[in-house]
Amino acid sequence: MTQVTVWNEFVHEQENETVAEIYPDGIHTTIADALEERGFETRTATLQEAEHGLTEDALDDTDVLTWWGHAAHDQVDDDVVERVKSHVLDGMGLLVLHSGHFSKIFRALMGTTCGLKWREAAEKERLWVVEPGHPIAAGIDDCIELDEAEMYGERFDVPQPDALVFNSWFEGGEVFRSGCCYRRGSGRIFYFRPGHETYPIYHDETIQHVLANAVEWAAPVDDPASSSSGNAEPHEEIDTNDDRSVH
Ligand code: ZN
Repeated sequence: MTQVTVWNEFVHEQENETVAEIYPDGIHTTIADALEERGFETRTATLQEAEHGLTEDALDDTDVLTWWGHAAHDQVDDDVVERVKSHVLDGMGLLVLHSGHFSKIFRALMGTTCGLKWREAAEKERLWVVEPGHPIAAGIDDCIELDEAEMYGERFDVPQPDALVFNSWFEGGEVFRSGCCYRRGSGRIFYFRPGHETYPIYHDETIQHVLANAVEWAAPVDDPASSSSGNAEPHEEIDTNDDRSVH
């Protein structure tokens, strides 16, 4: 069974009444429950735990990690970020959610600033499915409509995604690449935009459905390409002596 670790910085829920009302047990609990209901084995981890709950053992037992952060990106320990990154390169899936675009781990894996435009005006968002055959869009209609959302606008400073699954339109006029797939090493990464803490986004069944699809998609697969690096014997008979070699 696919094992999911749901990580949350868990700061707004403990400091802001509006957020605490929507997510009394934290965003992580809502997401973990939704994934559990859809057949995944889940555990949660937060910033406040030792090593942020992301020890080597915890990551060894994780097929897919989901990441929500906003106010405390700089408090995430660099050693933990490095550890998460090496697990991704080794094949662990990673779902980066909403304001996680500015997390250390996402920026490290993208190699860009990951900056974007934003506005908090409780405006309507439509996430258009622009890759209907993609497994992350399975079971989703032409678009997902959210009545109240924070706006994120282009340009989103990320590398060109390997696949773009959702493209958002906002009532105020902006557009945004809301569902971006990447591959780094053997790991699959999906960035999914909705999830501002003052709106009940993660209680939305369709959003939960997309998260479940994305977990399924990002789960590690046997990858022959990743196990075939290193010094190689030639396939044809050649002179392998080269005086210039320094190895
Ligand atoms: Zn937000």
